[in-house]
Amino acid sequence: MTIKIHEAASLHENTLSFIHRERHKLLIGGVWVEARSGETFEVFDPATGDLLGHAAAAGEEDVAMAVAAARAAFAPDSEWRRMTPQKRGELLWKVADLIEANARELAELDTLDNGKPYRNSLYGDVPQVVAHFRYYAGWTTKIEGSVPPVSVPNTLNYTRREPLGVCALIIPWNFPLLMAAWKLAPALACGNTAILKPAEQTPLAALRLGELMVEAGFPAGVVNILTGLGVPAGSALVDHPGVDKVSFTGSTEVGKLIMRNASNNLTKVSLELGGKSPNVVFKDADMGKAVKGALWAVFGNTGQMCTAGSRLFVERPVYEQVVEQLSEAAGGIRVGHGWDKSHIGPVVSQEQMERVLGYIDEGRSSGIEMHRGGGRLGERGYFVEPTIFSHDASGDDLRLIREEIFGPVVAVTPFDDWEEVVQRANHTEYGLAAGIWTSDLSKAHRLAEALQAGTVWVNAYNLFDAASPFGGYKSSGFGREMGKEAIDLYTQVKSVWVSY
Ligand code: NAP
Ligand code: MG
Repeated sequence: MTIKIHEAASLHENTLSFIHRERHKLLIGGVWVEARSGETFEVFDPATGDLLGHAAAAGEEDVAMAVAAARAAFAPDSEWRRMTPQKRGELLWKVADLIEANARELAELDTLDNGKPYRNSLYGDVPQVVAHFRYYAGWTTKIEGSVPPVSVPNTLNYTRREPLGVCALIIPWNFPLLMAAWKLAPALACGNTAILKPAEQTPLAALRLGELMVEAGFPAGVVNILTGLGVPAGSALVDHPGVDKVSFTGSTEVGKLIMRNASNNLTKVSLELGGKSPNVVFKDADMGKAVKGALWAVFGNTGQMCTAGSRLFVERPVYEQVVEQLSEAAGGIRVGHGWDKSHIGPVVSQEQMERVLGYIDEGRSSGIEMHRGGGRLGERGYFVEPTIFSHDASGDDLRLIREEIFGPVVAVTPFDDWEEVVQRANHTEYGLAAGIWTSDLSKAHRLAEALQAGTVWVNAYNLFDAASPFGGYKSSGFGREMGKEAIDLYTQVKSVWVSY
């Protein structure tokens, strides 16, 4: 199979030369190397199914080498450990500058690899990545301890916030570059060393980011990038006793496995997992805004958002109206490859397409109503129609309503009163996010308090900012990324007692 680039893509020369390397390496200890086994895996364009290249498939040996490199970079007398916080901040800022200077190339790589519209990559993901590095560049000089007022006479007690050590960062494919930034920026700001394991579907932009980090001047071994499969690359990282912390974003199923395996060495773990988020529309909402918001809450990024508003609750008096308007609006969504003026791209892989279509078929045969969509679009690439189901409370326990689909599928349901919507919205193992649409502010605040979710949006959906913490309740995980909370995630506290 030879490499083929979508005919509509007009790529920057740097992107072309990156793609035409065809065989991509691992970054270990500041050097680009093949996997020790020589093994690679194929990388595909989900908009065509065509081959984009081969990435090195890291195995146990490569993991051991990366851990050794990251440990050496974290040694007490290393350049990285001796580096001043200010200089660390400058390096992170430099990465942001380099990302900005190479924005087009990085956005093109994410679109090739993940399929998302190029405009989204360029004007959505990449600027957020830049903002992340800048935000945490500012934090390096503000990671403080405290002086607790202890009651022991003639004694000073103070605390130090210290890095954890070697952090394994394991990420999914829905926002390849952004997920890397969510983890790398705070981990490095806190003075840790890092081993990033991108998803096997989308390794390319992370590799280019690795090159930019080397160019920025991080000492060898501070940032390592291991492309490879969940097993053995991800699992060997989790099992390795030289890893101090695993920060994982991905499915709840793999998250549970990681937590079990990490317990052998008591490796610290933080988990950002799946969701099945409720989005609640009250009859007093601005209907135009609510329908548009509900539409993109679930169909944005082709539904491949952990926060997707996939359970839409609508107050009965406006229910018919919302279903109708939502169906009409969904009909206007342009689904296509990322180089077109499409609103949404394909799902990420054939496997994912089959999974999503499986849920849709199951929904159909369960007897609930399907208003729009329901199938694959075209025969080339992995395109799925935006699909709308509706059901009443008796459908709440269907698999389609309970499980995360991670595709463009929404289930709309009417509700009659406050108690009902609170109970049903919280009737899920997940608790990542929720949306509320109403013009009654006190109702919004009351519901924001009642919903079991790590993030609640009122009259909005999917707003994110490097300064605002993000993470899950219940089976959506624990630990908070972004904001000052991420500093807690990547540091530990030492209490020092001095008698005088
Ligand atoms: P996934 O299958 O759980 O994979 C996530 C990452 O874990 C990938 O890099 C994967 O490698 C790796 N992995 C797989 N098995 C492993 C193992 N046994 N040990 C260590 N690592 C392993 O999830 P996905 O399908 O890529 O992503 C979709 C999921 O991510 C959804 O459930 C979504 O909700 C969740 N997500 C959550 C958030 C959040 O912030 N809460 C954000 C985005 C996505 P491979 O690529 O080789 O499988
Ligand atoms: Mg791919």
